[in-house]
Amino acid sequence: MAVSDHVDLPTFMEGVKKRNPHQPEFVQAVQEVAEDIFEFIGDKEDYHAQQILRRIAEPDRVVSFRVCWEDDAGNIRVQRGYRVQNNNAIGPYKGGIRFHPSVNESVLKFLAFEQTFKNALTGLPMGGGKGGSNFNPKGKSVREIMRFCQSFMTELYRHIGADVDVPAGDIGVGGREIGYMFGQYKRITNEFTGVLTGKGLEWGGSLIRTEATGYGAVYFLANMLATKGEDLVGKTAVISGSGNVATHAAEKIVQLGGKVLTLSDSGGFVHDPDGITQEKIDWVKTHKTHRRGRMQDYVAAFPGATFHEGKTPWGVPCDVALPCATQNELLGEDARTLVANGCRAVAEGANMPTDLDGVHVFKAARLLYAPGKASNAGGVAVSGLEMSQNSARRAWKEEELQQMLKDIMLGIHQSCLTYGDQGGGYIDYVKGANIAGRKKVADAMLAFGVV
Ligand code: GLU
Repeated sequence: MAVSDHVDLPTFMEGVKKRNPHQPEFVQAVQEVAEDIFEFIGDKEDYHAQQILRRIAEPDRVVSFRVCWEDDAGNIRVQRGYRVQNNNAIGPYKGGIRFHPSVNESVLKFLAFEQTFKNALTGLPMGGGKGGSNFNPKGKSVREIMRFCQSFMTELYRHIGADVDVPAGDIGVGGREIGYMFGQYKRITNEFTGVLTGKGLEWGGSLIRTEATGYGAVYFLANMLATKGEDLVGKTAVISGSGNVATHAAEKIVQLGGKVLTLSDSGGFVHDPDGITQEKIDWVKTHKTHRRGRMQDYVAAFPGATFHEGKTPWGVPCDVALPCATQNELLGEDARTLVANGCRAVAEGANMPTDLDGVHVFKAARLLYAPGKASNAGGVAVSGLEMSQNSARRAWKEEELQQMLKDIMLGIHQSCLTYGDQGGGYIDYVKGANIAGRKKVADAMLAFGVV
């Protein structure tokens, strides 16, 4: 008789916890998906007999390696680098590289797991992966960052390739770091291929890649509001973060007629009741990226705003909220506050910014709530378009790409409706995204047999 994984959810999760000790973020990400999937696959014997859920919750491989580099004072420094190749059932592994002191195997495994479903939702042929290092770029000189990137790629290059695994940026990795890593890859292999995305426009990059995650999150938010006959005009928005995703989400909110009240960084949040206009957003972009400054300096530049040290912005009353900083930055208590203050919609720009308690609060309140794997997929979607352009050795026009991004976000919204419509006017976007994303990957895995 065939062995089946037809167990209940608690038993399945017990197994996941046992196999992944000390990896709370990974367990959390699997649990969030499993909660929705279990009901859907209840009667689908094929998935059970083929142990698809069990297989999908086990990365194809986790590579970990030593990264040595020399700092400006001549000290030898040692960091740990990783690449998690989670699943390539529907395309080459694809996902960003994160440089942050919080990076460890659990964080990258959760990110690679989420990435697999997110990438499937885009409709483009991309599998899921993620990489990074516990290297902290904060306070490092540009030369130190270059040397670190080169050393990191000297090991990573043997695990990636344009048809194998295509990394990109994430927290702590932007255009500059992609440039150093691409340069090193090209030097080692003597190949100019689309092995990384988020490249500069002169050397194979795509227009709108930089804006895509933030813009896409707001397109998704607008799609959700449209199901209630509403738009963003006159709506107040609370946004966390001040990096690429947050500033471009803010920019699109402003373009669509909304008012942005907050932005933040690890030091605290800025509350600007007059609204964070395009001019102020441009100041933040320059201050954070080029001057590598802190958000607390905002209040000196724009009097009328206040800085709230060590705090997150979720207590500021708003119509819509966009967590765009990092994982588990919005806890159950924050979710309850947002709901109590009348927040109507939440679209995640970051990956898993809401903890499980918070997810349950939003679901119970029947909020318009989009998980990151649906609403922040615009970034990786344009990465997928960058891969297509690299393969075809051509570059699409900005209007073409803008339209493709809008269409992809609308397509993801539609997939969420297909699998998340609970009746009575309530769409469970988490459930919709989890089922739609997983279904495509699972069906491909079924086709491949036991591999
Ligand atoms: N790091 C981004 C994400 O979380 C983008 C990944 C990519 O473009 O490959 O989706």
